[in-house]
Amino acid sequence: NIEQAQDDLSLKILVIGEAACGKTSIIHKYCLNKFEPKYKVTMGLDFFPKKITVDDQPINLALWDVAGQERFHHMIRSYFKNANGAIIVFDLTRIYHTLNSASKWKLQLDICFPDDNPIPCILLANKSDLFDMNDVEIKKQLDEFIAENGIKQWFFTSAKEGFGIEHAMEYIARVILDTT
Ligand code: GDP
Ligand code: MG
Repeated sequence: NIEQAQDDLSLKILVIGEAACGKTSIIHKYCLNKFEPKYKVTMGLDFFPKKITVDDQPINLALWDVAGQERFHHMIRSYFKNANGAIIVFDLTRIYHTLNSASKWKLQLDICFPDDNPIPCILLANKSDLFDMNDVEIKKQLDEFIAENGIKQWFFTSAKEGFGIEHAMEYIARVILDTT
């Protein structure tokens, strides 16, 4: 029936990673177009909605902020429940520590979503406003990192400048559409 409107699709997207990498900032910038320079620890399980259209398909994204649960791993299972995709954020001003943390988060995803039912995952290299994006070494390092960790793609982002975020969100939505 061509007169029938296409149903909106709802996707639950997890936003995870080490504390203070910019998870909340990315969600706020994307969903509310706001940036808060002062750091506030997020509490509670928050999600923010955002309507987008990908390949003519209307989508209701729900971005779930890990919300200060970075250290409370027992909460993780209920938070991960029914997720369609995951975004792991690390901080370009603290690459060694936060990228190491990113691989641990990916491991958590792999444990919760077994091989027969994996969810697409991307990596955001955030705070790119404080980093030289022409750095060839980091590109090589991140290409290797995503290949080793079973991550689809990585993106430079800046929650401060609003850079790269929309592109990344559309990418993960498209991957989910293509795999379901
Ligand atoms: P979360 O703990 O991962 O949710 O991190 P927040 O979103 O609370 O951000 C931590 C701190 O980093 C805050 O002071 C933010 O203002 C700052 N921040 C987040 N994203 C960026 C960014 O892209 N560029 C810069 N310069 N600062 C950022
Ligand atoms: Mg937060």
